[in-house]
Amino acid sequence: MVRLKDFTKLDQQFVNLLNDAQRRADSLGRIPSKRNGHWASEALSSCLRKSWLSWKALPTNEFGNLDTFALGNSIEDAVVKKFQSAGIVLRQQEHITIDDARLQYPITGKIDLLIIEGDDIITPVEIKSTKDYGENDGYDKWMSYLPREEHVAQLSMYLHARKATHGYLAYFNKNRGIMAIYKVDYEPEFYNFVIEQFVLFEKELAGPEPEIPKGMKPESFPCGWMSRALDAKAAKKMEGTCQYWNHCWKGQKLVTLFAEENPAEQPKV
Ligand code: SF4
Repeated sequence: MVRLKDFTKLDQQFVNLLNDAQRRADSLGRIPSKRNGHWASEALSSCLRKSWLSWKALPTNEFGNLDTFALGNSIEDAVVKKFQSAGIVLRQQEHITIDDARLQYPITGKIDLLIIEGDDIITPVEIKSTKDYGENDGYDKWMSYLPREEHVAQLSMYLHARKATHGYLAYFNKNRGIMAIYKVDYEPEFYNFVIEQFVLFEKELAGPEPEIPKGMKPESFPCGWMSRALDAKAAKKMEGTCQYWNHCWKGQKLVTLFAEENPAEQPKV
């Protein structure tokens, strides 16, 4: 009898080949450029050092799961389709700039979606795909982590720029395919708090490279995150890392999820 396993074989090398090709295509001809503004998506960032390194255009890791972004992009498309079905979409990907007198640099950003509500009220929507953080404990556990402060901060920048009274954060749980939507009111006090954090960061920017923030560990978020698969977890295999992991944790051993199949996935430290 012919068995499936006799004529099929895992071809991980092909996946690695495609990943390498994508990396080459993405980086071809790119010249790292220094930034000239803050990003709204970095408001209340979990690591100031990361923002600092990004401003200095330091090279990023050559490893990592490229498909994380692919998944996020397709989820965004799917969520936009839902809003389109409701016939309320005005347009997508609207750029904003905030010139706040307290800051030396502008804040820029891109609103995922503008919708029209009621009497021509134009409202920003920010779409986020998230993991199921409370995977083992159910829906309520996942909801208990939402909305995230940094996402509210990012949306607040958009609300300020558009002079909108409120906006929406639309979360999509990629493990379970469920959504949660939060209405966020514009709160001037919170906006000012975020601006104050950017002011503090600008002071850091003028100084030397900041230390790794206290308490951060190579294998813990936001530096890195472990796979939840029990076998990978036991082998301490990382599922993903910050793009500056290589820079911050020089000399530390990193085992990525696909390291065994692809030695090229190992960072050059
Ligand atoms: S690796 Fe960790 S400490 Fe370094 S920039 Fe990223 S998040 Fe910050």
